Amino acid sequence: MTRTYSPLFDLSALPSLRSRIQGRVFVPGDDGYEQASLTWETVTFKQRPPIVVVPAGDADVLNTVRFAREYQMPVAVQGGGHGHPFLMEALEREQALLLNFASMKNILIDPQRATARVEPGVKWSELIPLAHQHGLAPLNGFAGDVGVSGYLLGGGFGWLVRQYGLGAGSICSLQVVTADGQSLRVDAHTNADLFWGMRGGGANLGIATSIEFALYPVKEVFGGQVIYPIEQSRQVIAAYMQWAKSVPETLTSTFRIMQFPPLPGIPPVLQGKAAVIIVGCYNGSEADGTALFHPMRTLGQPLLDTFAQLPYSQVGAISNDPVDAPPWHFYNDHTTLRDFSTEQIDALVVVAADPASGLFEVEMRHLGGVLARIPEHEMAASLRDVNFSLYALAAAPTTELLAAGRQSVERIMEATPSDTSVPVLLNALAFNDVGPERTRAAYTPDNYRRLVALKNSYDPQNMFRFNNNIPPSP
Ligand SMILES: Cc1cc2nc3c(=O)[nH]c(=O)nc-3n(C[C@H](O)[C@H](O)[C@H](O)COP(=O)(O)OP(=O)(O)OC[C@H]3O[C@@H](n4cnc5c(N)ncnc54)[C@H](O)[C@@H]3O)c2cc1C
Repeated sequence: MTRTYSPLFDLSALPSLRSRIQGRVFVPGDDGYEQASLTWETVTFKQRPPIVVVPAGDADVLNTVRFAREYQMPVAVQGGGHGHPFLMEALEREQALLLNFASMKNILIDPQRATARVEPGVKWSELIPLAHQHGLAPLNGFAGDVGVSGYLLGGGFGWLVRQYGLGAGSICSLQVVTADGQSLRVDAHTNADLFWGMRGGGANLGIATSIEFALYPVKEVFGGQVIYPIEQSRQVIAAYMQWAKSVPETLTSTFRIMQFPPLPGIPPVLQGKAAVIIVGCYNGSEADGTALFHPMRTLGQPLLDTFAQLPYSQVGAISNDPVDAPPWHFYNDHTTLRDFSTEQIDALVVVAADPASGLFEVEMRHLGGVLARIPEHEMAASLRDVNFSLYALAAAPTTELLAAGRQSVERIMEATPSDTSVPVLLNALAFNDVGPERTRAAYTPDNYRRLVALKNSYDPQNMFRFNNNIPPSP
């Protein structure tokens, strides 16, 4: 295979890179290259970086960045591999070096301080059971297989968001390798400007080689899904919108409209069907949880009801997201709103419930709670005035077949135009091929200006640009 490298790099420089690295270095054709280049979507997405480094520790990351500087190569970073694959297609074109953290998986729990310190290859499903042994829980998202580092640095909203806030807000300190080849301790007192920016804009400002974050005293939760036939969607959603406004901050919930594929593994009653689903999690006793969710579980005859008291170690079962990426091509979009009108809900149901829409899932998450009391300037990510997040996902076995689903996602977004006065969530944009303007929408104007100033000082050449990018000032 013919391959081009940066003007300063050719394969004769490889031994120099390898001599500086304890971990592994791969170029196309090497045994292990394919594995080291994998993202979460192994079937429908392939990235072809000219060089992949799988670092063994902090020193490898530092040496890789210094090497990339020498050879003027941009650096892409992969934690759990669940984020924006489309941008990663540019790795080959732009002759980037990929740092894949698959081997950096150390976890240290401090039960006295209720904190965890993790290396950037750790996934939530690896950390949650260890924290649970001490009666503690992190602010993880719905899917256990997502990487801790990408999730936390991009904001992160999960089942405890209305009680404890965004995942980024739980970060206590980081070790960060910057584009100028330094390794910095970053916390509220040391490099405080970078600490502010890493919590929500992190992928743009440096590489986190470890992240320390708070854990919370949550042992058990009451959670699950109640699934109704699609014909009931208007009634269920109308009842949900009223109910969600009355629940305590200790309860976080979402409604979904899903088109279930006719595949084994899906309960027979749902195979090939569309349905409306209330999914929720309450941090409290089974008795209180049962009472709180009662109005949502008695809206008719559910197709399925999985609500139960669960140890937090099984929190992933609530949403039941797939561990392996389905072998499909995806298109998604996301917006945030202060409120939904009845007309918007009607329009959403018309598209989402149509079997010909090519849609896979529409999900509306209820936010608010403590988020509304966290000052907008506390960190880069802020969802202070956001009450609802809407996410629509189309899936199809080929890119050609995805066209119908893509149109449906666009119709849904037209029916519920973004409230431009509130930011979107960076993590929810991650699948799409989004440009800097869309990234900008994830921040309040003041916070975005501050992030650009940080980018100008920490990464003026935009070495870290394979992300939802905040370009430095021209
Ligand atoms: C099935 C599924 C469910 C999800 N559920 C939720 C949810 O409930 N809540 C939510 O908030 N999000 C959710 N997400 C979105 C997810 O949080 C983001 O895609 C997140 O960025 C993934 O992180 P990662 O480390 O796995 O991905 P990666 O693709 O490895 O990284 C994502 C981004 O972070 C950067 N990055 C990763 N590690 C580092 C590091 N150490 N230093 C600097 N930059 C780094 C990468 O360069 C990239 O830009 C979900 C995604 C999927 C696919």
